[in-house]
Amino acid sequence: MLLKELREAVCEANLELHRRGVVLYTWGNVSGIDRARGVIVIKPSGVPYAALTPDKMVVVGLNDDVVEGELNPSTDTRTHTVLYRAFPGIGGVAHTHSAHAVAWAQARRELPCFGTTHADYCFGPVPCTDPLTPEQVRRDYEGETGHAIVRRFADVDPLARPMVLVNGHGPFTWGKSAAEAASNAVILEEMARIASATVAIDAHAPPLEQHILAYHYERKHGPGAWYGQRAGASPT
Ligand SMILES: [Zn+2]
Repeated sequence: MLLKELREAVCEANLELHRRGVVLYTWGNVSGIDRARGVIVIKPSGVPYAALTPDKMVVVGLNDDVVEGELNPSTDTRTHTVLYRAFPGIGGVAHTHSAHAVAWAQARRELPCFGTTHADYCFGPVPCTDPLTPEQVRRDYEGETGHAIVRRFADVDPLARPMVLVNGHGPFTWGKSAAEAASNAVILEEMARIASATVAIDAHAPPLEQHILAYHYERKHGPGAWYGQRAGASPT
């Protein structure tokens, strides 16, 4: 994919967050990576969604230096680059402050997998990170946020669980592309909304049985995935 196409894809993924109602004002950001060139394309900082265009996206090296672009990149850029360096299989990262996912992050609770809606997208609970220490915040708040996520995934496959709740903050999601990272952010918000309703009905609701979790995840994401249609047709 040419860098021009990646700029368009990242711009579109950012607009998707806005269209789906998971970001307010200039909250939220999506990036995508060109691994051959070793650069990411990310939303500029503080630009309203209505004014976002592909040419306003900022190209940043994996060492966090701006390579191309007039505007400053998102303030969360260093979180994104830490994730790209640690998780070589991902192609896009998204961050929002969507209300229900933030509520679980603020409660400092992982998001349990109560049902198949969740299981279709995340193979188990959505992890929650440990809080940052004063020293980590002083040293490099955004970079350390990324490192806290990476530490939490030391024994978790980031491709099987492409989402996390940052303690006291909110969700980061990722995927094979910027578009998939953004759609995972929208889906996580819905998963969190449904989980909140579940625990409101029964505070001791049990997690989904492991064999049903495995069945649902595998039929969408396993080596022999059979959910949906071939040739990119939309599943219903
Ligand atoms: Zn944030």
